[in-house]
Amino acid sequence: MINIKRLLDYHMHSNHSWDGQSTIDEMCQSAVNKGISEICFTEHLAVREGDPCYGHLQMEHYNNDITRLRNFYNNKLIIKKGLEIGEPHLLKEMILPFTTNQDIDFIIGSVHNLGVYDLTVYIEGKEQLESYKAYFEELLKCVSYGDMDVIGHFDLLKRYAFDINGQYHHSDYKDLIHEILKKAISRNIGLEINTSGFRSSSMEIFPSQTILNVYKELNGKILTVGSDSHSVSMIGNNIAPVYLMLKQIGFDAVYSYNKRTPHAVKL
Ligand SMILES: [Zn+2]
Ligand SMILES: [Zn+2]
Repeated sequence: MINIKRLLDYHMHSNHSWDGQSTIDEMCQSAVNKGISEICFTEHLAVREGDPCYGHLQMEHYNNDITRLRNFYNNKLIIKKGLEIGEPHLLKEMILPFTTNQDIDFIIGSVHNLGVYDLTVYIEGKEQLESYKAYFEELLKCVSYGDMDVIGHFDLLKRYAFDINGQYHHSDYKDLIHEILKKAISRNIGLEINTSGFRSSSMEIFPSQTILNVYKELNGKILTVGSDSHSVSMIGNNIAPVYLMLKQIGFDAVYSYNKRTPHAVKL
């Protein structure tokens, strides 16, 4: 049985993110209304000029809001302060001021761009094999060198490439995916299960269940689950069914984070 009183949503964007559509106050209230016990804001951070979120996040303002809302909700809602960093393996010196002495609980490391191109632009006119290979190779660099707690939306490229080429074949990238997972485990980096995949045409989570099975075989344990909501309407979406699926695969916990330290929350 899954105790849905212990729902955690570990991927949410308020309008502290450039593409967030709700205020951080609205997001918290919605989480309480939906009976979610713990949320982690993972506001977008990118330090490369030209990235759409460059310069948007103001840490002081973000920190103040988190402190104010923690006081307001007290024990009704656990609120964690996180970041979703785009390409955390690049321009690391410029990322440091956002992650040092800021009391960050949790960092998602994501690949949103390949070079200066966002994924939608990068895949235009390319063969499926070439696009996915480039994406997973960048993800391997990300997990090898980035300072992060989990890998965000592992096979995100399918959100965009599915419409052009349909589903990708795991077997085409088996070794590369294996290498990424092994590197993650060796660095104590977990996987994020991102339920926004249900909102894209592939209609499945990121990462695929096949990748989760391999992670399990490799004895990977650290998993977080998040909706990647950018507005109140998406908070908590499909998290309970994912908990059930994880139990069926054989995982017995999801993880919460406190000041970058993972804690198992039993399923
Ligand atoms: Zn993302
Ligand atoms: Zn996100």
